[in-house]
Amino acid sequence: MIDYKLHIPGPVDVSADAYKAMSTRVMGHRSPDFVDLYQSCQPRLQELFQTKDPVFLSTSSAWGVMEGSIRNLCAKKTLCCMCGAFSDKWLDVAKRCGKDADGLEVEWGSHIDPVLLDEKLSTGEYDLVTLVHNETSCGMMNPLEDIMKVLAKYPDVISVIDTVSSFSVVPIPKDEWGIDVILTGSQKALALPPGLALLSVSERAFSRAESIEGRGYYFDFLEFLKNHEKGMTPSTPAIPQIHGLQYTLDQIFSEGVEQRHKRHAKLNDMVHSWVKEKGFILLPEKRFASKSLTCVKNNLGMDVAGFVKQLKTEKKLAIDGGYGKIKGETFRISNMGNESEESITHLLQAMDEVLPRHLPS
Ligand SMILES: *Cc1c(COP(=O)(O)O)cnc(C)c1O
Repeated sequence: MIDYKLHIPGPVDVSADAYKAMSTRVMGHRSPDFVDLYQSCQPRLQELFQTKDPVFLSTSSAWGVMEGSIRNLCAKKTLCCMCGAFSDKWLDVAKRCGKDADGLEVEWGSHIDPVLLDEKLSTGEYDLVTLVHNETSCGMMNPLEDIMKVLAKYPDVISVIDTVSSFSVVPIPKDEWGIDVILTGSQKALALPPGLALLSVSERAFSRAESIEGRGYYFDFLEFLKNHEKGMTPSTPAIPQIHGLQYTLDQIFSEGVEQRHKRHAKLNDMVHSWVKEKGFILLPEKRFASKSLTCVKNNLGMDVAGFVKQLKTEKKLAIDGGYGKIKGETFRISNMGNESEESITHLLQAMDEVLPRHLPS
């Protein structure tokens, strides 16, 4: 029995109304009812992705389309920008797909420097770049606009941008910035259960895909496009998730996209103030700190595991005790999805109460 609320950076808490929308009776995925559902989401998805390109729905977690992007788009060599757990893993995934790939690697918590990226790309070795916009493991948000300006100098290099934990938190104008493939997942800022990935693919990326052998079937971009034109997906999709998505889109557009961005910025500031007040510091530099979550450096020598555990058992609130190699050295608090001033205040008060018991005496 799950008797606590999630404040980890994904999956995030799902509202009762979203669950209710997902319990809509299932339909045939080749029926006109499904086409209606699919097509009712499309214009608002395009607006949210700030694109004229189609937005595809993939029944997989984000990694499905992250791997798929490599298989669809790499002819020569992939450059993986590495600055945390998810972006590091992408290099491993590219190699497992049998692709020639290497990394532009910085320390966890640091950002990808557009100047260094420019130097790497000027070698002419690469035809594909992968970048995680918001590195969830470190709470660091890359300077995407500046990075896209560098990529604009290389018309033969396709960009794949993971916005899994930043999509709908901050504006990301896909077409204006020239992003080729942008992808996200349902269980982070969209506050739906896991199981659906969303992606939008540019004309340029479709042309590249046409020339690539071994794209496979399940994540083949051209297969997605062919079905999209009929208001469908290549295979039977997670239909409840799409009902949930339709509900979430209603929510997002009734709140207003800009208002949603403002709300996230405000809640993020509230967490940052708490961090400062307690004498903690952020893992990344303040100017590259994520707006979706806060990754706090454990500079006070707190017993992170004990703190996280007591919050969960006593206060029924789950935060994260650090990802991978920075477990215990950091902890993370999400402000994505449906969080409000009220819910963040409640969390911070609970943290206040529990904290003193876990600091060194
Ligand atoms: C959570 C996350 C992923 C992985 O998503 P899955 O849905 O588990 O495949 C990838 N990238 C980022 C930035 C994430 O936060």
